[in-house]
This record gives sequence, C-alpha cells and structure tokens, in this order.
Amino acid sequence: MTNLTVVQDVAATLSRLGVAAERVSGGSLIARSPISGDIVGRLTECTALEADEQIERAHQAFLAWRAVPAPKRGELVRLFGEELRAAREDLGRLVTLEAGKILSEGQGEVQEMIDICDYAVGLSRQLFGLTIASERAEHRLMENWHPLGVVGVISAFNFPVAVWAWNATLALVCGNSVVWKPSEKTPLTALAVQTLFERAAAKFGGVPEGLSTLLIGGRAVGEVLVDHPRVPLVSATGSTQMGRTVAPKLAARFARAILELGGNNGAIVSPTADMDLALRAIAFGAMGTAGQRCTTLRRLFVHASVYDDCVSRLKKVYESVAIGDPRRQDVLIGPLVDKQSYQAMQQSLQQASAIGGKIVGGARVAPELGDDAYYVRPALVEVSSQDDVVRRETFAPILYVMKYENLQEAVRLHNDVPQGLSSCIFTNDLREAEYFLSALGSDCGIANVNIGPSGAEIGGAFGGEKETGGGREAGSDCWKGYMRRATNTVNYGSRLPLAQGVKFDI
Ligand code: NAD
Repeated sequence: MTNLTVVQDVAATLSRLGVAAERVSGGSLIARSPISGDIVGRLTECTALEADEQIERAHQAFLAWRAVPAPKRGELVRLFGEELRAAREDLGRLVTLEAGKILSEGQGEVQEMIDICDYAVGLSRQLFGLTIASERAEHRLMENWHPLGVVGVISAFNFPVAVWAWNATLALVCGNSVVWKPSEKTPLTALAVQTLFERAAAKFGGVPEGLSTLLIGGRAVGEVLVDHPRVPLVSATGSTQMGRTVAPKLAARFARAILELGGNNGAIVSPTADMDLALRAIAFGAMGTAGQRCTTLRRLFVHASVYDDCVSRLKKVYESVAIGDPRRQDVLIGPLVDKQSYQAMQQSLQQASAIGGKIVGGARVAPELGDDAYYVRPALVEVSSQDDVVRRETFAPILYVMKYENLQEAVRLHNDVPQGLSSCIFTNDLREAEYFLSALGSDCGIANVNIGPSGAEIGGAFGGEKETGGGREAGSDCWKGYMRRATNTVNYGSRLPLAQGVKFDI
C-alpha cells in the first residue's frame, strides 16, 4: 500500500475504519500527515458552548453508569477490545499516517490499547476495598471505592490513541464517564477510536448517551475541560509547559490531576554491561519514534573504561540507520511531527555546539518526501557536562553522551535534571543494579536494569516524578486514581462507644 499517496492512504484507511468522509472535510482544524506534510483532513472544531454541553451530557451519563455493576461495565470494555482486535491493522496504519511512527510501532500502540482493555475487563471484577480492625467492640471498619464522575482526558500527539485507552478503559470500568480532548495534531486517530467505541456501545446496548465523547479542537477546548466544575479529574498528557498551566487551575477548584509530562531520560552503561544488548536498547530508546516518546533516551552516561568502544559503535549505528517513509518495512526512523519540532531540534544542536558538544548527525534528510515533511538523521552529541540544553527536554532524536568514572557520581548527575520519568542501567554487577534501583539510586518513576527506558508494559504503573508531574497510569493500583474512597464504620451493637475512649453521656 506504500504506492498510494499519503492522502489516498489516509482516505482509504479512514473508510475501512468506518469514519465518514464528511467528518473530516470542510472544517477549520487542519490535519496533516508528517510523512509528506500533506493536508489529510479538515475537521470541525468543537466550540466552547458545545464542549460545555457535552460535559453536561457526560455528567448525566455518569449518573446512570455508576449504577451498572462493575463486571457489566467491564463487558463494554471487552466488546471495545474486540473492535480494536478487528481494526488493529487499520488503526495502527492510521497512527503511522498521522503521527509518523513506523508500522510496527503504530500496530504496537493499538496492541497496547487491546492489552489495557484485557486488564480493565479483569479489573472490573477486582475493584476491592479493605476491612480494617476496629478499636471498638461490635464495629466494622472498612473502605469502599466508588465511581468519581466525568474523567477528562487530554492527550499528546505522540501516543495519539494508547494514552486515551490507558485512562478511558480504567475510568469506564470504575463507573465514570469520559470526555477526551485529543491533540490537535492527531484528530483523525481520535475520530477512528470514537467510531470503534460507538460500535462497541451499540453492541452492548443501553449505554447512556455521552458516556465517552470527543472534543475536537486545540488548547481552548482543553481549557473548557480543565475549568469545568462537572469534571472532578483531569488526566493530562503533554509538555511540562502545559502541565504548569493546567495544574494550578485544577488545584484552584480542588479537582484531581493525573499529570504525565515531559521526560529527560537517562541510561548508565557500566564496565560490566553486555555491550551488544546495551547498544540495541540504546538505539531503540534514543532513535525509535524519531526521539518523540516521553520515555525517549536523551542522556547516556558511559563508564570511561568502555566509553570508546560504546561510542564508536553507536556512531556507526547513527550514521547508517534507515530513515524515511515509515510505511516502508526497511525504515526504522520516520519523520518529526512538524517544522516547529525540526526547528527546536536545530536550535538545541546549535546550543550544544556552542558549549563544545561534538555532534554526529542531526541534519535534515529525504527532502524529496515533501517540502513540509521533516526527516532528520538522529544526533549523537558528546558533551563534558550537563549544560542547560542537556537538562531540558528537546522532543527530537538527540542523545547527549557523557563519560563517568564513579557510579555514585553518575547517579548524582543522572538525577540532576528537573524531570523524573524513566531511567536504566546496563550492568551485570548485582551491587550496581541494586544500588541503582534503591532509594539512593534513580529518582525516576521508572527504573530498569538491562532494558532501555522506553516501551513500558501496561501491567506496571506508568509515570514520573518532579516536572514529569507525579501522575501514574495503567496497571498496579492506578485504578484507585479514578475512584473515590469512602471509609465506613458500622456499629452492629446496641451501645455507642466513642473512638479514643471519649465520654459524652447525655
Ligand atoms: P503539548 O503540551 O503541546 O499538548 C498536549 C495536549 O495538551 C494537547 O492536546 C493540547 O491541545 C493540550 N493543551 C495544551 N495547553 C493546554 C492548556 N493550557 N489547557 C488544556 N489543554 C492544553 O504536547 P505535545 O507536543 O502534543 O506532546 C509532547 C509532549 O508530551 C512532550 O513533552 C512529551 O514528553 C509529553 N508526553 C508525556 C507523556 C508521559 O506519559 N509522561 C506521554 C506522552 C507525551
């Protein structure tokens, strides 16, 4: 299908997914494919008034949905998972066309949605509370978890569909309704997901209207969601800059926030590292998805004794990795999302050069693929210290490499950035591995041994510390974030003993 133009490919894929052509034409929000820079859709943006109405409808849907038994709610998510299985190839292709990921990553993103559906279905029978020993005779003390309300989801362009699924599937089995504001750069995949969800809802039958809805638009529509008093929780994924605006607004109205913001992820290569394994992990972590994952590897600390071997081998990979149309099977690196992203990368490279960084790669390539398509050779930059440019996230494939002598010092430098998402160490030394995972080691939400920082499984909690926002999504006990906790005490006796022995006899 690579012989189709991008525009034809998008139209054909949307049609197979059941998205009506009129939904992607005639509107003011322009969707482009980063593969060629072509315009592939013009969508109608949601106005503030419409957004308000949809949120109100979602609130009404919540009032009904919360009364449906959780395992039944799970059945809706199971049906949605079936739709995703059937549409895996097409939806994965649309992710490739709209976000520029290679095909296996586009498909992988849909697989991640299917995985979280399976997880949520099981969870729908496991939303359990606690019974706690009461200090009073003939009393039962317990904890119950209840649905919360409308869950707002704001997502970024680089995981245009999986992030919504992490939030929505859990929110739905927990008895909530969902309102989604996808990235303005990836509205088509969102429309396709909504179409699949509506198909599952029709099969389920009796789903309250507006249980899961979509607000197409930019920042202004996202702001309606953030400010709306009917939305007790907003899960927002995007830049730290976005989080800085959103977090205080939510705090001001005492709404909950799950913030999944920028990362600046590091890896340590120790003297005992299995270098072949480490190089494969570093290559995928730093160059994969053209450096546009929140978990992309951006800083590499290599022990002096293995530095020359590691860096010379990495340079060869950087010089030879296949870059181009991500629909081609032989290509590993697709385009940057847009011109702004390309310019930000060039600016960071200029700054790195100004502080004496030695740069391999970084130039624009494959200009024949489109005037407004931005393909770059990933950049490897050797630096001697963590200057400002190294300490901030540039959302592009730049890997800063530094030499270290002492592990404690490497860990100190590793942690000495504002972000705290993901991290890893390559070592076969048990003491080093355990040190890195200990309280004295990595300060990130994710810390791995002999695995790169990206490509998390859904079973664990995903998220990071510091400027990454502190939110956690997906597995473990993250479902609790989408519910409210009620502590209940039941007195099944005929006396009324007060806690702490307080006397109040009337
Ligand atoms: P972005 O911040 O530009 O936009 C993200 C979303 O926020 C979009 O839907 C946008 O419309 C919305 N938005 C922006 N300002 C808003 C506001 N004031 N109120 C309400 N909504 C607002 O991010 P992007 O360029 O799409 O994505 C890249 C960034 O996302 C990177 O920093 C990356 O690290 C981060 N990211 C983090 C995670 C994570 O899990 N930690 C995952 C994916 C991406």
